[in-house]
Amino acid sequence: MKQGRADAIEQLIQLPEKQAGDFTHTAQVAARLACEQLGAETASIWRFSDDQSALLPVCRHQMAGQTIVDAPIHTDAAPDYFSHLYQHRFLRADVARLHPATKAFAPSYLVPNGIHAMLDAGIRINGHLEGVICVESLRPRQWSAEDAHWVGQLADQLALALATQHQSSQANQLDLFRHAMEQSSQRLVIVDADSLVIRYVNQAYVRLAGGRVEDYIDKPVKHLMMFQQNPEHAQLALEEVQERGFCRGEAQVVTPKGVVRWIDFRANRVVTENNQAYLVLYSDDITAEREHKAELENLAWRCALTGLYNRAYFLKRLTECKPVAVLLLDLDGFKAFNDLHGHAVGDRVLKEIARRLRHGAERLGAALTARIGADEFVVQFDVPPQQELKALALGLKARIDSPVQVGGRSYQVSLSLAGVCFDLLGDQVDPMAALDLAMERAKHTGKVQLFDHALRERFCEQVQIQQDLRKALVRKEFELHYQPLVELESGRVRGAEALLRWRHPQQGQLGPARFIEIAEDSGAIEPIGRWVLETALYQLHLWQRRWPNLQMHVNVSAKQLLGGELYEICWNQLNRYRLTPGTLILEITETSLLEEIQVVSRLCNQLGELGIVLAIDDFGTGYSSMRYLQRLPVRKLKIDRSFVMDLEHSRENREIVPAIIAMGQALDLVVTAEGVETAEQHEFLKACGCDMVQGFLYGRPVDVHQFEAQYLRVTEPA
Ligand code: C2E
Ligand code: MG
Ligand code: MG
Repeated sequence: MKQGRADAIEQLIQLPEKQAGDFTHTAQVAARLACEQLGAETASIWRFSDDQSALLPVCRHQMAGQTIVDAPIHTDAAPDYFSHLYQHRFLRADVARLHPATKAFAPSYLVPNGIHAMLDAGIRINGHLEGVICVESLRPRQWSAEDAHWVGQLADQLALALATQHQSSQANQLDLFRHAMEQSSQRLVIVDADSLVIRYVNQAYVRLAGGRVEDYIDKPVKHLMMFQQNPEHAQLALEEVQERGFCRGEAQVVTPKGVVRWIDFRANRVVTENNQAYLVLYSDDITAEREHKAELENLAWRCALTGLYNRAYFLKRLTECKPVAVLLLDLDGFKAFNDLHGHAVGDRVLKEIARRLRHGAERLGAALTARIGADEFVVQFDVPPQQELKALALGLKARIDSPVQVGGRSYQVSLSLAGVCFDLLGDQVDPMAALDLAMERAKHTGKVQLFDHALRERFCEQVQIQQDLRKALVRKEFELHYQPLVELESGRVRGAEALLRWRHPQQGQLGPARFIEIAEDSGAIEPIGRWVLETALYQLHLWQRRWPNLQMHVNVSAKQLLGGELYEICWNQLNRYRLTPGTLILEITETSLLEEIQVVSRLCNQLGELGIVLAIDDFGTGYSSMRYLQRLPVRKLKIDRSFVMDLEHSRENREIVPAIIAMGQALDLVVTAEGVETAEQHEFLKACGCDMVQGFLYGRPVDVHQFEAQYLRVTEPA
C-alpha cells in the first residue's frame, strides 16, 4: 500500500471525533481522503434509514465546480445494486453505466453528472450493512484490488465510528431511562411475567410501600403492597394483564405509617427483543383527587342540614338501580310547626328526626336514607328487608315518633308513612307518583299506607282519565248542568250555578270530583275552564233576553286564577253579550285565595271593575282570614255543605252557621247556604236570616232544558 494511503488510514484511526463516535465528521474526513488518495472527483458516505428501506446521504466531498445534489436512494429503485452490496465487500464498476449493479443509476444520476466509474464499499457492523462509501470518477478508470481494499479499510473505520456512536447513544439512553425511572413520582415496578418475580422497583414505590429497594428485588410478586392488602383485586388485575396485555384500576392501600391512600394503577405486558416477557406496573397517588371528588359529590348529593342524601341523589339512584322497596315519611303540619316555633327549632327537630331515621334505617339494612323535601324523607331498600314492609314501617315510625328535645323543651311531631314495593309497580307506574298517592291516603287515614292493588287501580284510572281529558274537549264530551239558587225569603229562583259534567265514552257521566283535580295537575284545567265560562255566559246571555236579572255562578279553580287568561276571557265574553252588570258570579275557594294573595287580590279587583261579583265557595273549610275578605271585592259567601248537612245533629254546627251568617251580614255579604236537603235545615237557616239557599231540597243540578222547564217557566224568576 502506498505510504500516503496508510497514513490516511492512520489519520482516520487517530481522529478524535472518530473515537468519540462523531460519525458525520468522520465521514467528511473519510470522503476527502478518498478523493485525495484515489484521485477521484467525488466521494460520498451514506447510511441506511432505520427501517433499511433507503440509503440516506451523510456527506459528499467533491471537486470545486461540481454540484451533485444527493437524495435518498430507495432499495427497490436499484435492487441489483443493493443485492451486490449485501453479498460483496466491494463494488468495482469501471464503466458504471454498463455494470449490472450500477446501470440503473445511469439515466438519472451517472449520465447527468458525467460519472464514469464507481468504487463502493459497504460499512458493516457485525456483518450487518449499515451504510456505504462511494468513490466516483469522471474519467474511465480501472480500479485495482488495492484501491478496493483501501476503500474497504475506510469503510471499516467508518463502521467503528458508527458503532461507537451507537454504543454511546445507547449508554446515554439507558442512563436517561434509569434516572427518569428513579426520579419519577410515579411508582414503578417491573415483574418477570413468567416467574412472577420482582425485577425492579423505583424509589417512589419504596417511599409509598416502605422498606428498601433490595427488600423487593428477586422476591415473588406477592411481596408487593397491593397483593398484601387487596389479594383478590391484585390477583384479578394480574390475570387480566397476563391475558389482555393491559389492565387499569383504582385501589385503596394503607402505608406502613397507617395512612390511607388511593392509587390509580396500570399494568402493561412488554416483551423484550430476546423474547423475555415482563409486567410493567405503574401507579399514581390519586388521594387528593378522590377527596376533592368526594367533597364535590358531598356538596352536590347531600343535604347540608341533615347530612342525608338529597332528592337529586335519590332520584339518580332510583333510575340507576331498581330498588326493592321505598318508604316515604312526611312530617305532619310541619309548615305550621315552623311558623309557630321558628325555623331554628324546626331545623333542630329535622336534624334529630333525620338522625333517628338514619339509625333506624341502617339497622333495618336499608341501602339509602335521603331527605327529598323540606319535611319529606325516604328510605330505600335494595334487597328484600327481613320483615314485611308494613311491619317494618310501623317499627320505624315508632322509633321516630317520640318527642324531640330542643333547648330544654320537648316537641311532639307526628309523621305519616307510606311505602311501595317495586314488584307491584310494573312498568306504567312511576314510583314517586305511587308514593305520593299512598302518602295522600296515609295523611287522610292517619295510618301507615302501602301502595296496594286498590291504589294501583286508582292510579291507573287517574292516568287513563288524564289521557282521556286531552281529547274530551275536541270530542265535545263536556256538558254544563245547572242548579237553582233560591232566595230564602221569597222562595224564588234568582240564578243558577253551572256545574261541569263529563260524558265519558266508557265510564258514563262523571262528576267534577273525578277529574277536576287531575285536570288541574295536568294543566288541562285552563282550556276546560275557558269552555265552561264561554258556555255558561252564552247560556246566561240567552236567558237574560227574557230574565235580565238572572244570575250565573261559575266555579273557577286556583290554577285559572293564577293562569293569567281569566280576565281576558271575562272581558271578551262580557263585551260580546252585554250581560247585566253584577249577574256573573265567580266562585272561588278559600284555599285558592291564599295561594298568592298579591296576584289574586289584584286580579279580583280588576274583575270587580268589570262588574263581576266574587263569591267565596265552601266557606269554613279553609283558613280564610277576615282580613282577606275585607281586602278583596268579595260580595258573596257560600257556607260549605258540611255545616248544613249536620245541622240537625251537631250542636257545634248549629252555633257556627248562625255565626257565619251574622258575620257575613256584618260585612255586607250575601250569604248562601249550600247542600240544603231537609225542611228542618231550611227552617233553621230561615230563622238565622240566611239570604240564599241551594240544595237538593230546591232542585238538583239538571241540564239546560230541564232547568228551563223546571225552574224558569214555572216560577218566572226575577
Ligand atoms: P261546589 O261549587 O260547592 O258545588 C256544589 C256541589 O254540591 C255540586 O257538586 C252539587 O251537585 C252538590 N250539591 C248541591 N246541592 C246538594 C245537596 O243538597 N246535597 C248534596 N249532597 N250535594 C249537593 P258537583 O257538581 O259534583 O261539584 C263538585 C265540585 O266541583 C263543586 O263544588 C266545584 O267546586 C267543582 N266544580 C263543579 N263544576 C266546576 C267547574 O266548572 N269548574 C271548576 N273549577 N270546578 C267545578
Ligand atoms: Mg260552587
Ligand atoms: Mg261549594
